[in-house]
Amino acid sequence: MRLEKFSECARILDPRNGFAETFQEIEVRVDPLTGSISRINLARGLRPKQEIKGLEAPIPPDCPFCPQNIEKETPRFPEDYVKGGRIKRGRATIFPNLYPLADLHSVCVFTDSHKLDLNRFSKEEFMEGFKASVDFFRMCAGRGAIFHFLGWNHLPNAGASILHPHFQLIASRAGLKGERELFDACERYWRREGRSYWSDLKEESNSERYVGESDSIMWVAPWAPMGTYEVLGFSTKGAKSIMDLDEKGVEDLSEGVAGVLRGLWDLGVRAVNMAVYSFPESKEWFSLNVRIMARPSGSTTDRAFLELYGSEVGLTASPEAYAKILRSRFRE
Ligand SMILES: [Zn+2]
Repeated sequence: MRLEKFSECARILDPRNGFAETFQEIEVRVDPLTGSISRINLARGLRPKQEIKGLEAPIPPDCPFCPQNIEKETPRFPEDYVKGGRIKRGRATIFPNLYPLADLHSVCVFTDSHKLDLNRFSKEEFMEGFKASVDFFRMCAGRGAIFHFLGWNHLPNAGASILHPHFQLIASRAGLKGERELFDACERYWRREGRSYWSDLKEESNSERYVGESDSIMWVAPWAPMGTYEVLGFSTKGAKSIMDLDEKGVEDLSEGVAGVLRGLWDLGVRAVNMAVYSFPESKEWFSLNVRIMARPSGSTTDRAFLELYGSEVGLTASPEAYAKILRSRFRE
């Protein structure tokens, strides 16, 4: 049996140690049977955790992502990565993850607000966050990390340890396993059908699962959702990567995310996960796409044996039913 592993090393200027350069090792293990990947960073056990303490709980004065603390309490990139140590665009700031799971794993704080309900995120905040993310990914591409994954865990039920809204960005040379599986599926569909899945998906604009569209990005509830109230957005104008989006493209994407979140809020959703999938080359079979799913608000998890070990999903609402509500809230 071949027990394969390799390591990645994140370079960080650590705020807990006078911004001295430190290294964190991430051990990446490959399952000998299935090829599934485990990323281990023992330092992550030390992460501070912010709990939700009721709706009216005061904002903790020591939140490292709040404007008064962000400069002194978040890490900086080494100067040869990013001049000045952090990437800034309007309200958005990007810095290295203090507890990384990959060598190029950063955090993007895109709002000054510590706590924002899903119906109150603005298009402008997302635009600044996405533009700053593109700056980070461009830096990474220059270092050979051409695969660019943007993820968002909003609130602890979605996996966030800090309540203050923030994206996480992972750039890599080979793509995460889930990215590679998506790319393979897209290429297979294209070979089998002779058309791109994403051009076929435009037909959903006439279905009960249609949610809305902001010029270059269309949003639908997928036929077979991967989670509760899942929504899928994709480029209808041929963008392959978040790096391909111009000013208007970033605005369309941001407007769509804000529109979907308003509808999810109406459905009672408080916590979400989001991922933006990009492909680094211009391939006919791929389009930039985004997935957003609701996560539970109570103490019961929505990831049980079926999801974790069966790789299938149990759901209680049809995509046609919730798309109707999301559609009505997509435009303000
Ligand atoms: Zn905060």
